[in-house]
Amino acid sequence: MNRIVVVGASLAAVHAVEALRTHGYEGEITLVGAEPHLPYDRPPLSKEALRSGPELDGLLLREPGWYGDQGVELRLGRAAAGLDVRQRQLLLEGGRELAYDGLVIATGCTPRSLGDLDETGSVHVVRSLADAAALHAELVPGRHLVVVGAGFIGLEVAATARRMGLDVSVVETAPVPLTRVLGDRVGGWFRDHHKANGVDLYLGSALDQIEVTKGGTKIRLGDGTTLAADVVVAGIGVAPATGWLDGSGVEVSDGVVCDQSLRTSVPGVVAAGDVARWHHPLFDETMRVEQWRNAAEQGGRAALSLLGETEAFAALPYFWSDQFDATARFVGVASGARQIEVRQTGDHSMVALFGRDDVIRGALCVNAPRLLVRYQKAILDQVSWGDVAESG
Ligand code: NAP
Repeated sequence: MNRIVVVGASLAAVHAVEALRTHGYEGEITLVGAEPHLPYDRPPLSKEALRSGPELDGLLLREPGWYGDQGVELRLGRAAAGLDVRQRQLLLEGGRELAYDGLVIATGCTPRSLGDLDETGSVHVVRSLADAAALHAELVPGRHLVVVGAGFIGLEVAATARRMGLDVSVVETAPVPLTRVLGDRVGGWFRDHHKANGVDLYLGSALDQIEVTKGGTKIRLGDGTTLAADVVVAGIGVAPATGWLDGSGVEVSDGVVCDQSLRTSVPGVVAAGDVARWHHPLFDETMRVEQWRNAAEQGGRAALSLLGETEAFAALPYFWSDQFDATARFVGVASGARQIEVRQTGDHSMVALFGRDDVIRGALCVNAPRLLVRYQKAILDQVSWGDVAESG
């Protein structure tokens, strides 16, 4: 293998490059990115970088000189447009082709839009540096921000804006925030936390209409409620960026379908990060994980699979979220939980455990970092639900 192309200038991509070089690969590496920037960190874009104004220099994942040192050729500002797996050619927007022996797909996800509801083009999303910069410019104290979607993006943006002195309303179709991911009781904790910090929540509320007037944006909900907004953000989920793979033969089904070691249906092509769907051996199910640490760890593993290693990717999913004074850390999986136990461990701290088939599978610790380590071990050891629940 002499020519490896990494598609997507992402966290997963940086770790793929690092793993290739660390493990002795000496051939060419080309990194292709749709945005004009070197790979940068995204979690701060809904938190501190949104508050202070995002600066590329402070967010870069590696110093600019690192890419030259690693012998990486950069093709930035060029989105991938197609893939010819028989000729092993990547097609770039604008018509150029790049030949490869091995390809790492690390194109991540793109935000869902409100579709027809946003014909006005007045709704912000938060995924890229440019998105966060545009939103930051609008977050002026005293203004009214309406956030559509009470997922992690929506709740983090709401908390950041509230702390900046804006009036903030959150509109969510589900009756409780985060309920699909973490269940009603945990979602209720986050609802109460936001309420206590002055966020207005419109739950179980469908968006009906968005209208831009001279005085701002009018948002009408299904029950007739009207909100006058100065700024609107949608955090209504993301979709894997796989359109460029249409017709290529790489199997896609809500993400790029991979085996346990992140190899796709096509030889010489692996995938990593938000875009990859693979079979997790510990949980014995296929999943796609939209989290920072997963992208970093999968990038390295996918690259080694290209070099011929066959080890399964079995790292535990992990994420964190900062909302006001709550730092939430989650390890494992919560989806499909049949048992959920929520423990209030202090005025501002809480632990939630998620189990299925009498085994612990996930744990959320809010302002309780040390407990997380204990539950992480219990999940890896597949400790029975009863033993974890009894251990307090
Ligand atoms: P998300 O977690 O999927 O949440 C989107 C929320 O919006 C859901 O509750 C969804 O409800 C709701 N929704 C969908 N359409 C709506 C509509 N028309 N009106 C009102 N509500 C609507 O997605 P996200 O918050 O956009 O975040 C994107 C990804 O980045 C997620 O995977 C997220 O976990 C990840 N992320 C992670 C972090 C972190 O780890 N700290 C931070 C930010 C983002 P339904 O569930 O009922 O569809």
